[in-house]
Amino acid sequence: MVPHAELRKRVADVLPEIVSLRHALHRIPETHFQERETSATIRAFLADSSLEILPPLLQTDTVGLLRGGSDGPCILLRSDIDALPVQERSGAAWSSERPGCAHSCGHDGHMAMLLGTARVLESFSQELAGSVRFVFQPAEEEAAGGKALIEKGLLDIAPRPAAAFALHGWPGMPVGRLSSAAGPSMAAADTFLITVRGRGGHAAFPHLVIDPVLTAARVVTGLQSIVSRSMDPQESVVLSICRIEGGKANNVIPDEVQLEGTTRYFDRSLQGTLREGIRRTVEGVCAASGCTAELVYEEGYVPLVNHQSAVDLARSVVTSCLGPASWFSEHPRTMGAEDFAFYLEKVPGALLRLGLGEEWRPLHSAAFDFNDQSLEPGIVTLSGLALEFCGK
Ligand SMILES: [Zn+2]
Ligand SMILES: [Zn+2]
Repeated sequence: MVPHAELRKRVADVLPEIVSLRHALHRIPETHFQERETSATIRAFLADSSLEILPPLLQTDTVGLLRGGSDGPCILLRSDIDALPVQERSGAAWSSERPGCAHSCGHDGHMAMLLGTARVLESFSQELAGSVRFVFQPAEEEAAGGKALIEKGLLDIAPRPAAAFALHGWPGMPVGRLSSAAGPSMAAADTFLITVRGRGGHAAFPHLVIDPVLTAARVVTGLQSIVSRSMDPQESVVLSICRIEGGKANNVIPDEVQLEGTTRYFDRSLQGTLREGIRRTVEGVCAASGCTAELVYEEGYVPLVNHQSAVDLARSVVTSCLGPASWFSEHPRTMGAEDFAFYLEKVPGALLRLGLGEEWRPLHSAAFDFNDQSLEPGIVTLSGLALEFCGK
């Protein structure tokens, strides 16, 4: 049983330091696999702790272990650490000091909460039966960091985790409330790159060229019928073309045009239909106009599927530590993706959403900044999960 009052008191004690730390991390955002200063800040904060810190598995990750006073299971808690190529316009006094790079997904808040949790759990270590694995993971936004850490054996290092949890700050939800739900919660996300090749030439002599611009336009409209005509309407599937590029002048038809986009879905068996539909459409449309085509389809994130037992544990910890109203019953699926999904393929666990405010500015927007009011309930929840899972 988690000692709620004592837990909240110890979280309150570390909070001022954690708010300053969050602001310090917010000032120095770094994108995927470049998180050197961020990682140094994390390591400096943990330097005088009793956590056993491993040498990096990649370059910028930090993996630590807190051993409890007696034997028991290991719980893994994960924070992502990377930022986005966004020019911040939040107006915060601690805004990014790096032009064109910002913590627009709130990973600064995730890091601060997990570091606060390390401090709090260290003070409870004698009450822990088992251990807590802390993972500060790079490159979440590229679907690369979590997968790479797991391929390097993160989940096989003893003691192997028996449960895994992560939090993500969530605009549109009241401050400090938390939610999760068993089953698919976030989508799989793949990417594709199509190159349409024709034969360029003078804009005034269309009969002498093979026009890749017109063909690319037909490919775009053709691809839109894959979801509407090949997929069961009961399924949630998205196919978006997000980049189209070709040509440099208003009187020259170019040799080639590139298209880039993403597919999103929850049921992994749909990937084959999507991939095949894109291939057939691209080849068919290009052949009809005399163009050739190249398609590169790359698997990105797997769907994020929360486990029932982990969601039950989280609900019980949140309602007992923060009050019954703190568990938010609405948890709609989203077509967004999260690379914590790779952990949940191997270890039972859950990703919890942490409310940042109903009117909070959207994730990935230039105006976004994490809500400091959400740090306390986040640290209470992460600490409470470990204390409950490794309870005596
Ligand atoms: Zn993001
Ligand atoms: Zn994120």
